[in-house]
Amino acid sequence: MATNRTFTMIKPDAVKAGHIGAILNDINAAGFRIVSLELKQLTRRQAEQFYAVHSERGFFGELVDFMSSGPIVAAILEKENAVADFRTLIGATNPANAAPGTLRAKYAKSMGENAVHGSDSDENAKIESDFHFATSVQF
Ligand code: UDP
Ligand code: MG
Repeated sequence: MATNRTFTMIKPDAVKAGHIGAILNDINAAGFRIVSLELKQLTRRQAEQFYAVHSERGFFGELVDFMSSGPIVAAILEKENAVADFRTLIGATNPANAAPGTLRAKYAKSMGENAVHGSDSDENAKIESDFHFATSVQF
C-alpha cells in the first residue's frame, strides 16, 4: 500500500484533560509522521461545516456545541495505509466498544466526547485536511 495521508483532531475533551502529548506520542509510536499540526478553536459555524454530513442526526447540535467548546489539535498524518490504520488505532466510535489499547479506549469519555477524530476515506482525508490547512505550511 502506498504511503498516504489522513486527517485527525484531538477533540476538546482530550485537550482539556491534558492528553495532547500522550496522544501525539501514541500516534508517532504507531508509525505515523505528523506533517501538519495546529492548536485551534473551531467556531460553531466551522464545526457545523466540518460535520455537515451529520446535520440531520439527533446528536448534531450536541456535537457542534462540543466541538466548538474549547481548543482542538488538528493534524495531517502520513503513513502507509494511513486512513485504515488510523481508524484501527483510534478504535470504535463508542469508547465502550473500543478495543483495548486504542486511543478511544485509553482517552475517551463517551460516545459524544470520544477524544479523537479520524477520516473515514482517502477522499474525506483530503477534504478535511484542506478545510483546516488550506493556508498553512505543509511539508
Ligand atoms: N457522535 C455522537 N453520537 C452518535 C454518533 C456519533 O455524539 O450516536 C459523535 C461522535 O463524536 C463521533 C462524531 O459524532 O465521533 C462523528 O460520528 P461518526 O459516526 O462519523 O463517528 P466517527 O467516524 O468519529 O467514529
Ligand atoms: Mg466519521
